[in-house]
Amino acid sequence: SIELRGVLKNFGDFALGPIDLAVASGERVAVVGPSGSGKSTLLRIVAGLTAPDGGRVYIDGVDVTDVEPWRRGVGMVFQSPALFPSMTVLENVAEPLLSRGVGRGEAFSRAREVLERLGLARLAHRYPAQLSRGQQQRVSIARALAAEPRVLLFDEPLTALDIPLRGEVLPYIYEASRGRTVLYVTHDFEEATYIAERVVVLMEGRVAADGGAVELFENPPNPRVAEFLGYSN
Ligand code: ATP
Ligand code: MG
Repeated sequence: SIELRGVLKNFGDFALGPIDLAVASGERVAVVGPSGSGKSTLLRIVAGLTAPDGGRVYIDGVDVTDVEPWRRGVGMVFQSPALFPSMTVLENVAEPLLSRGVGRGEAFSRAREVLERLGLARLAHRYPAQLSRGQQQRVSIARALAAEPRVLLFDEPLTALDIPLRGEVLPYIYEASRGRTVLYVTHDFEEATYIAERVVVLMEGRVAADGGAVELFENPPNPRVAEFLGYSN
Protein backbone atom coordinates (compact mmCIF):
# COMPACT_ATOMS: atom_id res chain seq x y z
CA SER A 1 0.00 0.00 0.00
CA ILE A 2 0.94 3.64 -0.42
CA GLU A 3 -0.27 6.37 1.87
CA LEU A 4 0.42 10.08 1.68
CA ARG A 5 -0.57 12.22 4.63
CA GLY A 6 -0.49 15.98 4.21
CA VAL A 7 2.34 15.82 1.68
CA LEU A 8 3.61 19.25 0.62
CA LYS A 9 6.25 20.45 -1.81
CA ASN A 10 6.96 24.06 -2.56
CA PHE A 11 8.97 25.08 -5.62
CA GLY A 12 8.32 28.81 -5.22
CA ASP A 13 6.04 29.36 -8.20
CA PHE A 14 4.46 25.92 -7.81
CA ALA A 15 3.12 24.18 -4.72
CA LEU A 16 2.04 20.57 -4.47
CA GLY A 17 -0.42 19.62 -1.80
CA PRO A 18 -1.34 19.11 0.88
CA ILE A 19 -2.00 15.69 -0.62
CA ASP A 20 -3.80 12.93 1.24
CA LEU A 21 -3.95 9.75 -0.79
CA ALA A 22 -4.23 6.07 0.04
CA VAL A 23 -3.64 3.25 -2.43
CA ALA A 24 -4.44 -0.22 -1.12
CA SER A 25 -2.07 -3.15 -1.52
CA GLY A 26 -2.50 -4.61 -4.99
CA GLU A 27 -4.54 -1.63 -6.16
CA ARG A 28 -3.66 0.16 -9.42
CA VAL A 29 -4.31 3.88 -9.50
CA ALA A 30 -3.74 6.16 -12.49
CA VAL A 31 -2.74 9.76 -11.92
CA VAL A 32 -3.74 12.14 -14.70
CA GLY A 33 -3.71 15.91 -15.01
CA PRO A 34 -2.48 18.78 -17.15
CA SER A 35 1.20 19.42 -17.72
CA GLY A 36 2.73 21.03 -14.64
CA SER A 37 0.02 19.81 -12.26
CA GLY A 38 2.56 17.99 -10.10
CA LYS A 39 2.21 14.36 -11.24
CA SER A 40 5.93 13.67 -11.54
CA THR A 41 6.64 15.49 -8.31
CA LEU A 42 4.08 13.33 -6.51
CA LEU A 43 5.66 10.14 -7.90
CA ARG A 44 9.19 11.27 -7.10
CA ILE A 45 8.13 11.96 -3.51
CA VAL A 46 6.76 8.40 -3.20
CA ALA A 47 9.98 7.04 -4.75
CA GLY A 48 12.16 9.12 -2.43
CA LEU A 49 13.78 11.05 -5.29
CA THR A 50 12.29 14.34 -4.07
CA ALA A 51 11.98 15.18 -0.38
CA PRO A 52 8.64 16.69 0.63
CA ASP A 53 8.59 19.92 2.63
CA GLY A 54 5.90 18.51 4.87
CA GLY A 55 3.76 15.47 5.50
CA ARG A 56 4.58 11.78 5.65
CA VAL A 57 4.85 8.94 3.15
CA TYR A 58 4.00 5.37 4.16
CA ILE A 59 4.68 2.23 2.17
CA ASP A 60 3.02 -0.94 3.40
CA GLY A 61 2.30 0.89 6.64
CA VAL A 62 5.91 1.90 7.27
CA ASP A 63 6.85 5.58 7.43
CA VAL A 64 9.49 5.87 4.67
CA THR A 65 9.64 9.67 4.53
CA ASP A 66 13.28 9.64 5.61
CA VAL A 67 14.23 6.33 3.99
CA GLU A 68 16.56 6.19 0.95
CA PRO A 69 14.89 5.36 -2.39
CA TRP A 70 16.54 1.93 -2.76
CA ARG A 71 15.34 0.87 0.67
CA ARG A 72 11.66 1.70 0.07
CA GLY A 73 10.68 -1.41 -1.85
CA VAL A 74 9.67 0.73 -4.79
CA GLY A 75 10.42 0.34 -8.50
CA MET A 76 10.09 3.28 -10.89
CA VAL A 77 9.83 3.49 -14.67
CA PHE A 78 10.45 6.85 -16.30
CA GLN A 79 9.35 8.36 -19.58
CA SER A 80 12.64 7.58 -21.30
CA PRO A 81 14.37 4.29 -20.77
CA ALA A 82 17.35 5.23 -18.61
CA LEU A 83 19.67 2.29 -19.14
CA PHE A 84 23.42 2.31 -18.60
CA PRO A 85 24.85 2.25 -22.15
CA SER A 86 28.05 0.43 -21.17
CA MET A 87 26.18 -2.43 -19.48
CA THR A 88 24.41 -5.35 -21.10
CA VAL A 89 20.70 -5.85 -20.58
CA LEU A 90 21.44 -8.47 -17.94
CA GLU A 91 23.83 -6.15 -16.11
CA ASN A 92 21.33 -3.31 -16.26
CA VAL A 93 18.60 -5.47 -14.74
CA ALA A 94 20.96 -6.83 -12.07
CA GLU A 95 22.20 -3.36 -11.16
CA PRO A 96 19.45 -2.43 -8.64
CA LEU A 97 20.07 -5.72 -6.87
CA LEU A 98 23.84 -5.23 -6.76
CA SER A 99 23.39 -1.71 -5.41
CA ARG A 100 21.15 -3.15 -2.69
CA GLY A 101 24.03 -5.38 -1.63
CA VAL A 102 22.79 -8.63 -3.20
CA GLY A 103 25.77 -10.85 -4.14
CA ARG A 104 26.72 -11.08 -7.82
CA GLY A 105 25.69 -14.71 -8.32
CA GLU A 106 22.24 -14.20 -6.85
CA ALA A 107 21.75 -10.80 -8.49
CA PHE A 108 22.46 -12.25 -11.94
CA SER A 109 20.31 -15.31 -11.46
CA ARG A 110 17.41 -13.16 -10.25
CA ALA A 111 17.92 -10.75 -13.16
CA ARG A 112 17.86 -13.72 -15.57
CA GLU A 113 14.60 -14.91 -14.00
CA VAL A 114 12.94 -11.51 -14.43
CA LEU A 115 14.10 -11.30 -18.06
CA GLU A 116 12.73 -14.75 -18.72
CA ARG A 117 9.42 -13.98 -17.06
CA LEU A 118 9.05 -10.89 -19.26
CA GLY A 119 10.09 -12.72 -22.43
CA LEU A 120 13.34 -10.77 -22.76
CA ALA A 121 15.84 -13.58 -22.13
CA ARG A 122 17.14 -13.52 -25.69
CA LEU A 123 18.19 -9.87 -25.25
CA ALA A 124 20.23 -10.52 -22.09
CA HIS A 125 23.66 -10.01 -23.65
CA ARG A 126 22.84 -7.10 -25.90
CA TYR A 127 23.72 -3.50 -25.15
CA PRO A 128 20.99 -0.83 -24.95
CA ALA A 129 22.09 0.73 -28.26
CA GLN A 130 21.37 -2.59 -29.98
CA LEU A 131 17.74 -2.54 -28.86
CA SER A 132 14.69 -0.85 -30.29
CA ARG A 133 13.10 1.92 -28.24
CA GLY A 134 10.27 -0.42 -27.21
CA GLN A 135 12.71 -3.11 -26.16
CA GLN A 136 14.68 -0.56 -24.15
CA GLN A 137 11.54 0.49 -22.31
CA ARG A 138 10.68 -3.16 -21.62
CA VAL A 139 14.15 -3.67 -20.18
CA SER A 140 13.57 -0.59 -17.99
CA ILE A 141 10.40 -2.27 -16.72
CA ALA A 142 12.33 -5.48 -16.06
CA ARG A 143 14.88 -3.46 -14.14
CA ALA A 144 12.18 -1.81 -12.04
CA LEU A 145 10.87 -5.31 -11.23
CA ALA A 146 14.25 -6.90 -10.47
CA ALA A 147 14.14 -6.33 -6.74
CA GLU A 148 10.50 -7.56 -6.65
CA PRO A 149 9.15 -4.26 -5.34
CA ARG A 150 5.66 -4.31 -3.87
CA VAL A 151 5.11 -0.82 -5.21
CA LEU A 152 5.59 0.16 -8.86
CA LEU A 153 5.60 3.75 -10.07
CA PHE A 154 5.26 4.63 -13.75
CA ASP A 155 5.80 8.15 -15.05
CA GLU A 156 4.34 8.33 -18.58
CA PRO A 157 6.17 5.15 -19.63
CA LEU A 158 4.68 5.19 -23.16
CA THR A 159 5.11 8.86 -24.02
CA ALA A 160 8.48 8.42 -25.73
CA LEU A 161 7.25 5.49 -27.82
CA ASP A 162 5.46 5.78 -31.15
CA ILE A 163 1.81 4.74 -31.29
CA PRO A 164 2.15 1.11 -32.51
CA LEU A 165 4.78 0.45 -29.85
CA ARG A 166 2.50 1.86 -27.14
CA GLY A 167 -0.09 -0.76 -27.98
CA GLU A 168 2.60 -3.38 -27.59
CA VAL A 169 4.11 -2.16 -24.32
CA LEU A 170 0.87 -1.27 -22.49
CA PRO A 171 -0.45 -4.86 -22.07
CA TYR A 172 3.07 -5.76 -21.06
CA ILE A 173 2.99 -3.19 -18.24
CA TYR A 174 -0.43 -4.47 -17.23
CA GLU A 175 0.90 -8.02 -16.87
CA ALA A 176 4.15 -6.99 -15.21
CA SER A 177 2.34 -4.98 -12.56
CA ARG A 178 -0.19 -7.65 -11.64
CA GLY A 179 -0.56 -8.09 -7.88
CA ARG A 180 1.50 -5.02 -7.07
CA THR A 181 0.53 -1.62 -5.77
CA VAL A 182 0.76 0.77 -8.71
CA LEU A 183 0.72 4.51 -9.32
CA TYR A 184 0.63 5.13 -13.06
CA VAL A 185 1.05 8.67 -14.38
CA THR A 186 -0.27 9.43 -17.85
CA HIS A 187 -1.71 12.23 -19.97
CA ASP A 188 -3.96 9.76 -21.69
CA PHE A 189 -7.28 8.92 -20.08
CA GLU A 190 -7.75 5.80 -22.21
CA GLU A 191 -4.37 4.52 -21.10
CA ALA A 192 -5.37 5.29 -17.52
CA THR A 193 -8.54 3.23 -17.79
CA TYR A 194 -6.65 0.33 -19.37
CA ILE A 195 -4.25 0.10 -16.42
CA ALA A 196 -6.33 1.22 -13.47
CA GLU A 197 -9.85 1.00 -12.14
CA ARG A 198 -9.32 4.15 -10.12
CA VAL A 199 -8.16 7.52 -11.40
CA VAL A 200 -6.82 10.49 -9.47
CA VAL A 201 -6.95 13.83 -11.29
CA LEU A 202 -4.31 16.34 -10.20
CA MET A 203 -4.80 20.02 -10.94
CA GLU A 204 -2.48 22.79 -9.80
CA GLY A 205 -0.92 20.52 -7.24
CA ARG A 206 -4.17 19.34 -5.68
CA VAL A 207 -6.37 16.28 -6.03
CA ALA A 208 -9.30 17.59 -8.12
CA ALA A 209 -11.04 14.24 -8.50
CA ASP A 210 -10.54 10.67 -7.31
CA GLY A 211 -12.75 7.79 -8.27
CA GLY A 212 -13.66 4.93 -10.55
CA ALA A 213 -12.46 5.53 -14.09
CA VAL A 214 -15.87 5.02 -15.67
CA GLU A 215 -17.77 7.04 -13.04
CA LEU A 216 -15.32 9.95 -13.36
CA PHE A 217 -15.65 10.00 -17.11
CA GLU A 218 -19.42 9.74 -17.09
CA ASN A 219 -19.98 12.01 -14.14
CA PRO A 220 -17.02 14.37 -13.57
CA PRO A 221 -17.19 16.23 -10.22
CA ASN A 222 -16.66 19.70 -11.70
CA PRO A 223 -16.36 21.51 -15.04
CA ARG A 224 -12.56 21.76 -14.96
CA VAL A 225 -12.21 18.05 -14.51
CA ALA A 226 -14.82 17.51 -17.23
CA GLU A 227 -12.91 19.75 -19.58
CA PHE A 228 -9.68 17.95 -18.87
CA LEU A 229 -11.30 14.60 -19.48
CA GLY A 230 -12.41 15.89 -22.86
CA TYR A 231 -16.00 16.89 -22.27
CA SER A 232 -17.47 20.25 -23.10
CA ASN A 233 -20.51 21.23 -21.11
P1 ATP B 1 4.14 17.01 -17.05
O1 ATP B 1 2.78 16.47 -17.40
O2 ATP B 1 4.56 18.08 -18.00
O3 ATP B 1 5.15 15.93 -16.87
P2 ATP B 1 3.81 17.16 -14.19
O4 ATP B 1 2.36 17.12 -13.82
O5 ATP B 1 4.60 15.93 -14.07
O6 ATP B 1 3.95 17.78 -15.66
P3 ATP B 1 5.78 18.28 -12.40
O7 ATP B 1 6.95 17.85 -13.21
O8 ATP B 1 5.52 17.56 -11.14
O9 ATP B 1 4.45 18.31 -13.28
O10 ATP B 1 5.99 19.80 -12.12
C1 ATP B 1 5.06 20.58 -11.42
C2 ATP B 1 5.60 21.99 -11.31
O11 ATP B 1 6.73 21.99 -10.44
C3 ATP B 1 6.06 22.59 -12.62
O12 ATP B 1 5.67 23.92 -12.63
C4 ATP B 1 7.55 22.47 -12.57
O13 ATP B 1 8.17 23.49 -13.29
C5 ATP B 1 7.84 22.58 -11.10
N1 ATP B 1 9.05 21.81 -10.72
C6 ATP B 1 9.21 20.48 -10.81
N2 ATP B 1 10.41 20.10 -10.37
C7 ATP B 1 11.04 21.23 -9.98
C8 ATP B 1 12.31 21.52 -9.43
N3 ATP B 1 13.19 20.55 -9.16
N4 ATP B 1 12.61 22.80 -9.17
C9 ATP B 1 11.73 23.80 -9.43
N5 ATP B 1 10.52 23.59 -9.93
C10 ATP B 1 10.17 22.34 -10.22
MG1 MG C 1 5.70 14.79 -15.41
